[in-house]
Amino acid sequence: MTKNKSKLDFAGDWSYAPAPESTKVKIDKRYKLFIDGKWVEPTSKKYFDTISPSTEEKLAEVAWGNEKDVDKAVKAARKAYEGVWGKMSGKERGKYIYRIARMIQERARELAVIESMDGGKPIRESRDVDIPLVANHFFYYAGWADKLDYAFPNLRPKSLGVAGQIVPWNFPLLMVAWKLAPALACGNTIVLKPAEATSLTALKLVEILQEAGLPDGVVNVVTGFGDTGAAIVNHPDVNKIAFTGSTGVGKIIQKAIAGTDKKCTLELGGKAANIVFEDAPIDQAVEGIVNGIYFNQGHVCCAGSRLFVQESVADIVIRKLKDRMESLIVGDPLDKNTDIGAINSKDQYQIVKNYIKIGKEEGAKFHENSCALPKKGYFVRPTLFTDVSQSHRIAQEEIFGPVLSVQTFRTVSEVIAKANNTEYGLSAGIWTDKGSKIFNMTTKMRAGVVWANTYNKFDPTSPFGGYKESGFGREGGLHGLDAYLDLG
Ligand code: NAP
Ligand code: MG
Repeated sequence: MTKNKSKLDFAGDWSYAPAPESTKVKIDKRYKLFIDGKWVEPTSKKYFDTISPSTEEKLAEVAWGNEKDVDKAVKAARKAYEGVWGKMSGKERGKYIYRIARMIQERARELAVIESMDGGKPIRESRDVDIPLVANHFFYYAGWADKLDYAFPNLRPKSLGVAGQIVPWNFPLLMVAWKLAPALACGNTIVLKPAEATSLTALKLVEILQEAGLPDGVVNVVTGFGDTGAAIVNHPDVNKIAFTGSTGVGKIIQKAIAGTDKKCTLELGGKAANIVFEDAPIDQAVEGIVNGIYFNQGHVCCAGSRLFVQESVADIVIRKLKDRMESLIVGDPLDKNTDIGAINSKDQYQIVKNYIKIGKEEGAKFHENSCALPKKGYFVRPTLFTDVSQSHRIAQEEIFGPVLSVQTFRTVSEVIAKANNTEYGLSAGIWTDKGSKIFNMTTKMRAGVVWANTYNKFDPTSPFGGYKESGFGREGGLHGLDAYLDLG
């Protein structure tokens, strides 16, 4: 396995010795639905395979829930809401949430390994970013559970009832945490649907909820496909829908609940501008660009997928960026040396490959890192396009892969106009030495989050959400409580 080669032997083809994560994990052969505190067979008796995108091997079979199963789950959630959770004091609810947070920390390595196996993201990210943030979200919202009256003075906050929560595959457990933790803190019960490609960590979390002694029916997990999600959205006894996913499905959901009194938050797609001014610390900015688009294989709704560089520094930024890209290691997500893991699924792999083809056909100049790719699995090299114009599809559409489009600009007003020229408005990045420029830009950018001299930083205390077709409502922080409360 280990290549017996000195790291000082720069003349030859040297590489790091493999450093696989050593934590052993237990994945069952089959996962049923989790309804009313029990694992139950899906009504249809149907199961689907969940695949590791880095090996193309089957990891487990997961139950395919249908309308009848969703109905059972909603009934269980209603019973738990009326019987226990909705009546429980915030202080008591908080204890459960703290317990869950601590148990997540105890089992963090195991959860990180499963996240990387099932979803393809590098272990360094699942271990150092995703899972710590998952625990942080539970800790943060546990603290709010008994302070809701202080959070909204003079308004009498009341829980909503049953929340239907539907999450995507790019941050599987983190998106679950973003939804479960505030909903539980506010006294709601839940029917959760993980993404079909990445259900395993949500199912592992169920083991933690059981160990934490969470009362039956408070959290129900119904795995499945789009039809399972639609059954949750359309169920008449669900009071709130929280959805993170594509803008296309977000629009279907909004149409489906129009005319009902369901409360709703939608966290949808993005096409963020990452803007580098000539006075920026260039090396830091290059790190930020790499982090912005190649982090998690570009499977990030707020990925800095459109780079705008001021003309006077464009050559140097692009040269340094290409050098840095060359050092990125693409490969086994379970190897601690890996920077870029596997694309989440075969379907997504084909979508990314197709956008690369479109970019070339549109006439943009293509560049990719030259590393070898593993023989099996869905891997794409970090890629960038220069000579891109505003009308190019690669500059307008969400690719959700490690593909960066680069444009240049001369003035502040020009870059604001170009950056805002998108149907999305989730996030943006600014790199400059001048505080006044940052303040000017943040007030003019139509984006829910604007990072300055950093990128892709998340914190449970900060609200996150979009403008325009990136959705509405906020998750995280105090704003995240509002989404799960009736403030009268
Ligand atoms: P997606 O296809 O919209 O799916 C999201 C979830 O919705 C999945 O669980 C999916 O189930 C389910 N679903 C599919 N059709 C549905 C329907 N008609 N009714 C109800 N639920 C349905 O999105 P994705 O491809 O998984 O995720 C990528 C997208 O999410 C990107 O556009 C990305 O920008 C966005 N995203 C946004 C944020 C944010 O915070 N704004 C965060 C992360 C991701 P299946 O998996 O079984 O299809
Ligand atoms: Mg999978």
